[in-house]
Amino acid sequence: MFDVVIAGARVLDPETGRDESLNVGIAGTAIAVLSASPLQGARVLEGSGLVLAPGFIDIHTHEDLQETPGRSFEMPRETAACALRTGNTTILGGNCGGSNYPVGKYLEAQNAEHLPINCLTLVGNSTLRKVLGLDEYATAGPSQIAAMKDLACAALDEGAQGISFGLQYAPGTSFAELLALCEAVREKDKFFAVHMRYDTPLRAVETVEEVISAALITGAALQISHYAANVYGHADGAAKNGGGNIDITARLIEESGADIRADVYPYDTWATGIRSAVFDQGFEDFNFNVTDLELLSGPLAGRYCTQELFDSLRHAPQETAVACHNAIPMKDIEAAYRLPFVCLGSDASMSLSADGHRKGHPRGAGSPARFLQEFVREKKILSLMEGIRKLTLIPARRLGLGRKGRLQEGMDADLCLFDPGTITDRAAYGMDVCALAPAGIRAVIVGGKVAYEGSDPADR
Ligand SMILES: [Zn+2]
Repeated sequence: MFDVVIAGARVLDPETGRDESLNVGIAGTAIAVLSASPLQGARVLEGSGLVLAPGFIDIHTHEDLQETPGRSFEMPRETAACALRTGNTTILGGNCGGSNYPVGKYLEAQNAEHLPINCLTLVGNSTLRKVLGLDEYATAGPSQIAAMKDLACAALDEGAQGISFGLQYAPGTSFAELLALCEAVREKDKFFAVHMRYDTPLRAVETVEEVISAALITGAALQISHYAANVYGHADGAAKNGGGNIDITARLIEESGADIRADVYPYDTWATGIRSAVFDQGFEDFNFNVTDLELLSGPLAGRYCTQELFDSLRHAPQETAVACHNAIPMKDIEAAYRLPFVCLGSDASMSLSADGHRKGHPRGAGSPARFLQEFVREKKILSLMEGIRKLTLIPARRLGLGRKGRLQEGMDADLCLFDPGTITDRAAYGMDVCALAPAGIRAVIVGGKVAYEGSDPADR
């Protein structure tokens, strides 16, 4: 008698390539048995016609952007809740240079929250800079860099999975600072994740070369964040719709011999704060214009920018989140997903406003569903097994999670049961609709417990 049995699902294991209809028995927190024979369970989920995969692992989220008044740490409650409903069982926050801090105290507080999925964190370089009193434009001197490295080592010892950088958000970060923190990462056998310094076609090769160099010089493992959002178009800037920069930089990455992976979110729209340094340079070299910016928060949410609105919000006391539509050519997203070192990372942050509305980019609620729907089923860029590998095994290996991302006996019972024929992202741009759960996710199991069951009548 097992605690939970999933009966007759098509079991996909991205490590062994196993793809067959089986019964899966869960005991406690582990996958106990994969069997062709019927199994008895205290709880039985009918799996016929459905796919059972390892639970999805999202290596790029932003739990750090949560707004939770009255608490010293910002808990990723909404981000985790939305992630669960789209099949994620583990997410990694603290990306792009910003994290909760101190890491040990944060993880302790998070433990007491009983979040529905596993929430891991990086420690952010920009956060460490703030601890030392450096703003985003300041260059750290040698003693400040040494102090930063000590803080980073302490955070890694306290449980951070690695160090994140937001080089575009903190342009004062020097190459020497990057190298010092990469050394900390290498010494502790962790990895560094980088939101790279530039995101215009003219500087794509240069910006990737900087992070490859840091990985090569220090021997640290690297995760390039939202690769296609920084690297797209052509090096000569002439063609706005080619895969040129992706092809060139992928070759540099593969030929470097360094331990480098990358994540890509399945949307052509990115989002950030309108006051951030991203917009310091103006728009000439970008793929979009000021009128492509849609406001995602504040009293004018839903409106598109004009130059006047942009200028006033840039200097407003409150930050406004904006979505930049049509910013990433779809051909480049497709080219990136074809690369073996690329996995999915949503770049999600979902939060609750003071008056109870959910705010964020729809990628926070729909990324794996959108990926399986659009890039696997509709466009056939990847086979279902390759798609599952990018959602599970590749991020598990980067995070050093040996018992996750594998659907085998003895592994963690983190699982996603879904219908590959109907899985559909339903989240949209705007308040509350950004958090809509996808169709086609039948059940999500976290640590051996059924943590979510799709409630849509169309899913039953
Ligand atoms: Zn970023």
